[in-house]
Amino acid sequence: MPSWKTHIFINLIIFLFWLKLLFLLRPETGIFYVVVISLFAVIVSVFPDIDTNKSRVRNWLALILAVMMTILYLINFNLSEWYSVALFFTVSYCVIRFFPTHHRGFTHTLNFSFILSLILFFITYFFLRTDILTSFMTFIILFVCYSSHLILDRIIKIQD
Ligand SMILES: [Zn+2]
Repeated sequence: MPSWKTHIFINLIIFLFWLKLLFLLRPETGIFYVVVISLFAVIVSVFPDIDTNKSRVRNWLALILAVMMTILYLINFNLSEWYSVALFFTVSYCVIRFFPTHHRGFTHTLNFSFILSLILFFITYFFLRTDILTSFMTFIILFVCYSSHLILDRIIKIQD
């Protein structure tokens, strides 16, 4: 299995080319958007390995995803009940971290790559209020980053 560093490094190169293209098409793109998409790109680069208990990727992803879900929860629900927020965070983290999974299962498929990219497309479209072209570009880069992980896993078949 290529290490998480390899996945992030390869995707960083792809991402920089994509960024260049985005700025050619949309020179007015804001820095906040770029920061959010960079974060998404890093997450999707290693996301497929969330199904392995051996790697440290899962610890980090569980933490990052639980924080993001808790932020969404805070935005949508009552702030005063801090214990429900703490409970929500703990449960989300534990489910992502410890749910038994089979390595190279459904998260290592193109279908899942498509679905996750689509979800992130809708998130950027509705929450960041990007125009349709930028959102479409977002979908493309996330799908490419995610899928590059799957391709790299197939090319480098080192035992894991
Ligand atoms: Zn993998």
